[in-house]
Amino acid sequence: MMLYILKANVDTSLLKEKLNRSSASYKFLNLYGKNLLLVWPDQYAKDIVDDSIEIAVNVRKSYVLSSNDWKKEPTIVRVKDTEIGGNKIVVAAGPCAVESEEQLSTAAKGIKRAGASLLRGGAYKPRTSPYSFQGLGEEGVKLLRKVGDEVGLPIVTEIMDTRDTEIFKKYVDMVQIGARNAQNFSLLKEVGKIGKPVLLKRGMGNTVEEWLQASEYILLEGNGNVVLCERGIRTFEKSTRFTIDIGGMIAAKMMTHLPICADPSHPAGRRELVHSLALASVAAGADMLLIEVHPEPEKALSDSEQQLTIESFEVLMNRIRSLAQALGRGL
Ligand code: PEP
Ligand code: MN
Repeated sequence: MMLYILKANVDTSLLKEKLNRSSASYKFLNLYGKNLLLVWPDQYAKDIVDDSIEIAVNVRKSYVLSSNDWKKEPTIVRVKDTEIGGNKIVVAAGPCAVESEEQLSTAAKGIKRAGASLLRGGAYKPRTSPYSFQGLGEEGVKLLRKVGDEVGLPIVTEIMDTRDTEIFKKYVDMVQIGARNAQNFSLLKEVGKIGKPVLLKRGMGNTVEEWLQASEYILLEGNGNVVLCERGIRTFEKSTRFTIDIGGMIAAKMMTHLPICADPSHPAGRRELVHSLALASVAAGADMLLIEVHPEPEKALSDSEQQLTIESFEVLMNRIRSLAQALGRGL
């Protein structure tokens, strides 16, 4: 794939004519404040010469816009005043599912007090069984907005359906794409168009390269505000719910300029493991953590076994703070 960085404010009409005459596919887009042109396949794309081109990069990867071949500096994703991908480690926390205003409000106050920067809760829940609690849907999103505003935390929640984009545009600060939709390409494209920051989980059966290719669908819509979230993959191992791929996270960090988040809760499956997996993720370079916290985990309507109590989350935040300091980072 040829990626051309174009000069600012230049006429590209001649370039477009040349491209239309060739057999190449192409796309112009603005990303990170730069005018870019992608041209493929390679045999048609390499020899384009035009005055409007500043830099030409041949990205020999299956992922292009997310690759650090052309963008060396790490991307910082801003969610309201919170910066993800900088020196500070950002923690998003909250219940697996929004169950009631009281439950959400208690969780939100607790995580805020402990130092979390984002409130996360599921309203549209991807459940393996149709008989399990499916989430409060739009009502849950509205509760997140209300409680988030009351405690002063931006909100993150998962979208499952392209038909819900208007709700997310109106109420949500960061849009999560879950592991089960990590390769739902029409959803990825629509979410890219919403124009809000995206937290993209890795599919439980996806390689690191496929995860980056999924992010490419969002970036291609001109939305560069993507955080990649490792949440564990399926392996033969049964002692944890999923296998958190710490090595894959480190590899991903070396391949992309996008920030990396780790979700230690879903691979743990049991709360006793969450602290150590969170700390291991920070040691591996995670820029963000996503941790499930519930005021009464044993009564939770989903993922009851893995959610931390508010007290346990406070202890974990102190441990993360100490580790972050040792690594020259903040919280
Ligand atoms: C979640 O974050 O609540 C969730 C459903 O996670 P995943 O998509 O990683 O399974
Ligand atoms: Mn969950």
